[in-house]
Amino acid sequence: MSDKIPNVDFAIIGGSGTLSSDFPKNFADVEILADNIFFDTPYGRSPAFRLCSVDGKNFLTCKMHGWRSGVTRADSSRQIFWTFREAGVKRILSEGGVGTVNRLLNPRDLLVPDDYLDLSTRKDVQLDGRYLLIMRDALCPELRGNLLMSAKKFFTGRIFERGIYAVTDGRHFESPAEISMLKGHADIVGQSLVPEVYLAREIGACYANLSFAVNYGEGIQVWSHDTMKEIFFDDAHMLGNILLDTVKNTFAAERTCDCLNLRKETLLKEIYNPN
Ligand SMILES: [Zn+2]
Repeated sequence: MSDKIPNVDFAIIGGSGTLSSDFPKNFADVEILADNIFFDTPYGRSPAFRLCSVDGKNFLTCKMHGWRSGVTRADSSRQIFWTFREAGVKRILSEGGVGTVNRLLNPRDLLVPDDYLDLSTRKDVQLDGRYLLIMRDALCPELRGNLLMSAKKFFTGRIFERGIYAVTDGRHFESPAEISMLKGHADIVGQSLVPEVYLAREIGACYANLSFAVNYGEGIQVWSHDTMKEIFFDDAHMLGNILLDTVKNTFAAERTCDCLNLRKETLLKEIYNPN
């Protein structure tokens, strides 16, 4: 049976950065209002969501971008964003570990990307095609600014205020030749920003991402799986705190960004809305 979709303004899509912390259980000021809730969507049953509250501010969250075996990543994303649209979500934060492409970056550098490069081959990543999506400022400048303010409170390492996130399909990492090709075009590489940026724009929500470097791109430096494992377990709580602080500081503010104006009713109505 499908649970009732709550009305919420805010959502957090958990990734590899917060997974080991069972986010947001055991975080200060957080109350879990409903756990393990599922919704029937046109794209199949949703992943498990949690309805949570931090300082009285409600948000929905799910783990690992909704990825799970037996469900394509495109469908996982559509299940999540269909649910967000029904819930009335207006702001979305996501996080995840990434590999480095820019030679100046190291594992444990934190980035809030300001643009992306889509090298994925995922298809069917829209909900209904009603809108033309203009991908200028796909990562909301306002929400990114708030995320950066919170990051500076909880993280003492290097924080980069911009960067280009190249998106590949995975699940494998990239070859040295692929990393070499990306140099000069992207700073980090990961697998989750697409299709989330498209779907966020389609539902009219602001979207920002917190990326934590967990390994060197292949061919840049030899990296160790042990380091990645340490980051995975040691830094999850810090990343969760950044996300929660951003919710607290952003929740009540009016949106003054352009995100909602960067989707336009499609001119191809006879194709997408024949009636
Ligand atoms: Zn925005």
